[in-house]
Amino acid sequence: YKLPVVRNEPNLSYAPGSKERQALQDAIAELESAAPFDVPAFVGGKEVRLDTERSSQPMPHNKKQDLCTFAASTPDLASEAIKHALAAQPEWESMPFNDRAAIFLRAADLISTKYRAKICAATMLGQGKNVWQAEIDAAAELIDFFRFGAAQVEQLYTQQPTENSSGTWNRVEYRPLEGFVFAVTPFNFTAISGNLVGAPALVGNVLVWKPSPMATYSSWLVLQILLEAGLPKNVIQFLPTPNGDATISLVDRVLDHRMFAGLHFTGSTHVFRHLWKKIGNNIDKYLSYPRVVGETGGKNFQLVHPSADVRAAAIGAIRGAFEYQGQKCSALSRLYVAKSLWDGDFKETLLSEVAKISQGSVSEFQHFMGPVISQASYDKCLSYVEKAKQAGGEVLAGGSGDDSTGFFVQPTVILTKDPLSPTMTDEIFGPVLTVYVYEDAKFEETCSLIDTTTTYALTGCIFSNDRAATVKATALLRYSAGNYYINDKSTGAVVGQQPFGGARGSGTNDKAGSPSFFTRWANPRSIKETF
Ligand code: GLU
Repeated sequence: YKLPVVRNEPNLSYAPGSKERQALQDAIAELESAAPFDVPAFVGGKEVRLDTERSSQPMPHNKKQDLCTFAASTPDLASEAIKHALAAQPEWESMPFNDRAAIFLRAADLISTKYRAKICAATMLGQGKNVWQAEIDAAAELIDFFRFGAAQVEQLYTQQPTENSSGTWNRVEYRPLEGFVFAVTPFNFTAISGNLVGAPALVGNVLVWKPSPMATYSSWLVLQILLEAGLPKNVIQFLPTPNGDATISLVDRVLDHRMFAGLHFTGSTHVFRHLWKKIGNNIDKYLSYPRVVGETGGKNFQLVHPSADVRAAAIGAIRGAFEYQGQKCSALSRLYVAKSLWDGDFKETLLSEVAKISQGSVSEFQHFMGPVISQASYDKCLSYVEKAKQAGGEVLAGGSGDDSTGFFVQPTVILTKDPLSPTMTDEIFGPVLTVYVYEDAKFEETCSLIDTTTTYALTGCIFSNDRAATVKATALLRYSAGNYYINDKSTGAVVGQQPFGGARGSGTNDKAGSPSFFTRWANPRSIKETF
């Protein structure tokens, strides 16, 4: 049977007076009044509540209120989780693909209809997203990952040898990896968490899932939805745990296992490299060479050519840098503007638009920006403002914050004369944009500068209305970004439209949201049968 044809899930607008706005407001009120939820681990098909160190996920806009609490999962619980996952593998992988796919299609439908408001509300309250950012993530993108994923795996399975010499039949069987996949998921996208577990599972893998402690509740909801959609109970084992020692000992135990077969990671470059080293050190212990798939940091650029549309480029920069408070791996943080435009109306347009940005509680439905995720993130943003000032940077907008009720960092624009100053080179993961103004005649040198400033290569964009310049820059910036946009902002890749991922220090560039992604979770066997 063929799976249904897939289209991207349309985004709802949540216009005042709309049904969806009312439903979301109700869901927010319900979560706020019932919080904090007690989120268990899920191991062996059962909710497990350990008596270990308790941790919580505070609401970033209202830091005194916890959305959920959870206990640290222990290494022994991880061992048990692995045992149950491995025991579930034969049945899960031998389930006909259409039946596995149907679970994910059903989960997508459940999100689209029954759980849309709840999962958006959880992402707003727990991860500090405004309504529109929650909608494009926890609703539309998560739905797309599940629906497109099913269709893309179906497509993978049709990739078969076309040549058979007489008397033979050649074919390829797409088995899952032999062992379990370890998913380590981020706080910033509920959809990415869903995809990090969903993609390997669609190919028949079993998983051990360590969600971000800052997205424990929405991750738990994703699991609940998959279970309601029919996912067999032991396919995904869920191990919430706080950062720090608890995570280190849990991860050590998981990566020590002979049947560890793959890491599916989104998070910081530092942690990814650390895990990769551990895997390397353990390599002799494993039955197979583990697949390591990771999306990590970014220091994403926008280049504005003298021919660019000033308004489009300024708005692109604002959206790229400040939507979701700059907490997307794809967020813009280095802006290179031609001097003729900057001295013309670019600076004024940029700053007057930044001045209009409203920031506040995510449940008020009117703010462009909310809080950053944590006190640590808040402190990091402000410490980088100081570093920028020490390096001679001029703060043109923002530069401070208010952490009395939540972690609110102002949208910050810094002008630097030093293109290698700290806010041009280091990932901050917050709403801090640094501008470097280049001489118009030095456009090509600026491309080289962009390319060599960092070892990240996640996203980037150019605004230009000069075709030759665009072509030139696109060639010079060939390896500077895994996702490259011409006359659009650096964020907002859509599943099935712009396969997403970065190279160099930004990840293994396996392109989430594309058919090739799934080859990483498959373990193909070529079969030649001679008649
Ligand atoms: N896919 C998202 C985008 O294009 C970013 C994902 C991330 O932050 O990891 O904006």
